[in-house]
Amino acid sequence: MEKSAAIIPLRYLKGIGPKRAKALNKLGLETVEDLLYYFPRRWEDRTKFLPVAQLEAGQQQTIKAKVISVAERESWKRRNFKILEAITSDGTANIVCVWFNQQYLKDYFKPGQTLILYGRVERYGGRLQMNSPEFEIAGDGEGEALNTARIVPIYCLPEHSTQRYLRKVIKRALDEYLPRLGDFLPYDIRSRNNLLNLAKGLLEIHFPGSEASKQEAFRRLSFDEFFLFQVPLALRKTAKKEKPGIAHKIEGRLVKDFIASLPFKLTVAQEKVINEIKSDMSKPQAMQRLLQGDVGCGKTVVATIAALMAIQGGYQAVMMAPTEILARQHYDRLGVLGQEFRDALKVGLLSGSASGKEKDKICRAIEEGKINLIIGTHALLEEKVKFKNLGLVVIDEQHKFGVGQRALLPKKGINPDVLIMTATPIPRTLAITLYGDLDISVINELPKGRLPIKTMYFTQEEIGLAYDVAQGHLKNGSQVYIVYPVIEESYALDIAGAKKMYGELKKGEFRGFRLGLIHGRMKQKEQDEVMLRFKNKELDILVSTTVLEVGIDIQDATCMIIEHAERFGLAQLHQLRGRVGRGTQESACLLVTGASTQEAKARIEAMLVYQDGFRIAEEDLRIRGPGEFFGSRQHGLSELKIANPLTQMQLLKRAREEAIKLINSDSHLVDRQNVLLKEKLLQRFPEYEKLMVVG
Ligand code: ADP
Ligand code: MG
Repeated sequence: MEKSAAIIPLRYLKGIGPKRAKALNKLGLETVEDLLYYFPRRWEDRTKFLPVAQLEAGQQQTIKAKVISVAERESWKRRNFKILEAITSDGTANIVCVWFNQQYLKDYFKPGQTLILYGRVERYGGRLQMNSPEFEIAGDGEGEALNTARIVPIYCLPEHSTQRYLRKVIKRALDEYLPRLGDFLPYDIRSRNNLLNLAKGLLEIHFPGSEASKQEAFRRLSFDEFFLFQVPLALRKTAKKEKPGIAHKIEGRLVKDFIASLPFKLTVAQEKVINEIKSDMSKPQAMQRLLQGDVGCGKTVVATIAALMAIQGGYQAVMMAPTEILARQHYDRLGVLGQEFRDALKVGLLSGSASGKEKDKICRAIEEGKINLIIGTHALLEEKVKFKNLGLVVIDEQHKFGVGQRALLPKKGINPDVLIMTATPIPRTLAITLYGDLDISVINELPKGRLPIKTMYFTQEEIGLAYDVAQGHLKNGSQVYIVYPVIEESYALDIAGAKKMYGELKKGEFRGFRLGLIHGRMKQKEQDEVMLRFKNKELDILVSTTVLEVGIDIQDATCMIIEHAERFGLAQLHQLRGRVGRGTQESACLLVTGASTQEAKARIEAMLVYQDGFRIAEEDLRIRGPGEFFGSRQHGLSELKIANPLTQMQLLKRAREEAIKLINSDSHLVDRQNVLLKEKLLQRFPEYEKLMVVG
């Protein structure tokens, strides 16, 4: 049998010796298939070069011109700084190409050579210039068909390589392997969705015959990426649905009493989500639901009601939070519930900071069923934690947990219902892409009476003004957070740290007020103590690092100063801001920043303009791109090399529908037409086999 390109090492390809292979390995390219999937960074239409005389300043352009002369000189501003100037012409006009401090280029260019140059056109007086353009020497005979007079691929280059070389080996790989490449995408899926076959797609993405065929190739290969992402999700979803779960008894005293005891009316959105959860929990399949909702929208109440539904039927519920502070807050809130709940509801807290003895005691109570509502942190994942009859798992602020961690807790029961909550909402289609194995609920409404948080921006020099605003809040009897990106200052980056600033502010700006300091390197107990004192209003100001980021709810804190705001991600800034504006008083969020990069400015701008977490997330995605936004490792989004869920929503939807259709008709992928697909999936996701066994 012919070996597949997926396993043939690169060095077996003609033209790739050990040294070249090594350089390619550095880019993560190991096999011939990797090379076939090493897509161009961009393409250049070299069928028509713009005449130099028609170039306009400020545009990126590709031209073809002859070298007239080459000269090197030293900069008159900086010593030892060499400038290489090549005057070139295409017959319509001259253009000067300039490279800085790249001496080796001096002997590279020779008068009479034809160059293909790509760069930004500048105009200085009457002189046209390109600074450090990308270049290739044209017309050296061999392989011209690949490098000019067509749409030409431009790749990210490995070390010591040229575009011409890479084009040559990739073309060779295509010529040699495409004829024997099977298409893993079943024929009917291809034809239903008007997709090119794989060989054609790969050929056209590297060496497009036309702009239109490049688009077709792009569409086919994007579809593949979405589809391969969706099939495992679809499979997981069916597998979970097929296993028998618990049909909870959803009507009962506990839930009714709890809702009646609330000091507020549930929002319409909360009610809607509670009904979705009710319907899931009453069914004999296990719930797998993601609850998205902006900071402060009231997810905890919803989770608590879900927990009570499980408990009133005799089951245990567990709620896992990412930090001790947050776990304790959940615990304390439940602790104040009235007498009418005492008999039915036994709440326990399991945190990492408890002593071994305390932990053992709680674990025993959990195992014996003496506690039926368990709140905790990662500590819950330890092996010694065993449940008597776990009926519901709630995971709060799921983005703080890895996928693996998230999956551990439900395994401690027999197919319990699972509710996953997140305060980093993302657009619905994207949520479906990433969490296609979950059903999704959204709370898209804040409780009534919340005022928008006044968000302002100050430069580093204006920091005094920000402190003045904070003073105003303090004088009204409110509390203030001051947040820093780091604990210890960094001289290299010129960033003030929380520790030092705590000392300075206490003696300076905020003398006379009671300040506290909290950061992640303090012992858990100390953190809790400080938090508690702030909550009890024994402190006026809390100086902090990002440990505040998730969940803390203190209604009298109405002002937050975030220093070096440019150091925070947009979602993070929004989460931090969510710590204020939780009561009925007007709150302020003051961003102090020496915003430097365009991106940092865009983030600050978004914070000033938007309050809505969904909008902020969209902006964040736009600014950073999906890979960065999600931390690609966690979600396997790095598999998406050319597909973009934000710009190709329609294609994504189709891929998802096809994946579901496929799993419904052949969940074990045993049909002949699905054999190659199964192989491909196993190659990509070794754990896939397990899923199929489960299914
Ligand atoms: P998050 O969704 O960020 O986890 P929380 O559950 O912590 O939000 O709720 C934020 C605050 O809003 C809490 O003090 C909570 O008691 C309060 N709250 C929740 N639901 C409502 C409501 N329907 N009306 C008024 N306040 C509410
Ligand atoms: Mg919360």
